[in-house]
Amino acid sequence: MSELRFDNQTVVVTGAGGGLGKAYATFFASRGANVVVNDLGGSFKGEGTSNKAADVVVEEIKAAGGKAVANYDSVENGEKIIETAIQAFGRVDILLNNAGILRDVSFKNMKDADWDLIMKVHVKGAYKCARAAWPYFRKQKYGRVINTASAAGLFGGFGQANYAAAKLAQVGFTETLAKEGLKYNILVNVIAPIAASRMTETVMPPDVLESLKPDWVVPLVAVLVHSSNEIETGSIFEVGGGHVAKIRWERAKGALLKTDSTLTPGAILKRWKDVNDFSEPEHPQGTANFMEKLEEGLKLS
Ligand code: NAD
Repeated sequence: MSELRFDNQTVVVTGAGGGLGKAYATFFASRGANVVVNDLGGSFKGEGTSNKAADVVVEEIKAAGGKAVANYDSVENGEKIIETAIQAFGRVDILLNNAGILRDVSFKNMKDADWDLIMKVHVKGAYKCARAAWPYFRKQKYGRVINTASAAGLFGGFGQANYAAAKLAQVGFTETLAKEGLKYNILVNVIAPIAASRMTETVMPPDVLESLKPDWVVPLVAVLVHSSNEIETGSIFEVGGGHVAKIRWERAKGALLKTDSTLTPGAILKRWKDVNDFSEPEHPQGTANFMEKLEEGLKLS
């Protein structure tokens, strides 16, 4: 198969000054794309700003013969980032919502500021960037979006109640945009990556980090945002260190109880085994299937 190219397309990468974002930006530029390298340039806790992070990546791309412009706005001002794409390249085709910070602290000690800043950067940031790109995507009947979740969002993470909540929000956000975008050829997927970066370098040993290069996350993202992907949307992928796998919901057999006065806590306890029975799982993809179950339940009553 010939290599995937992105000539004449514009890719906006948020948080592209380092880590995964930098790996995306340099890759897409090397495959012919115009790249908007967005980065606020603060610390991994979201403190301070600097133009340097984005500038260094833009210089690197240009030195290698690629096309890139810098943008230094916070993702909370997504419209300015998309505006940079339109002004510099006249279009936007792909949005990689990647920018992120951490404010890890035990729940007991969490302050409103720790919660609010995480929500602003991850949830509001992804929303604002996608919202600003959406009219362009709809008009040109083409758009590809990657949102960035995390294992912490899918499974929880000690000291990460704020981050985990913001990261699982990316899943619901993705599922909805995927449904609304399909008609307009806007495909939206979400990844839970794992990679060596300033975010993970303090919590993982060096030999493990060595096998977790951000470069090993990039190829899946390239596959998902390429025009040859015409069907994969609304999917969650775990990716990193050479591992790539889709994640989905699984529903147990469950119990269907009569909706009358017999529906008591005791009735549920009696059927607890069925509630937890994953021997014949279903993999629901929407509410329709749940409504069918409720209809079956009505027949019991
Ligand atoms: P990183 O700190 O190297 O990169 C994040 C970048 O986002 C930084 O350059 C930072 O300056 C930028 N940024 C932060 N706030 C911003 C804002 N308001 N506006 C614009 N830019 C901003 O970390 P990374 O590991 O490359 O993380 C990239 C994404 O992947 C994040 O969303 C992170 O939560 C997610 N993630 C990473 C891992 C991992 O193992 N590295 C795991 C799960 C999820």
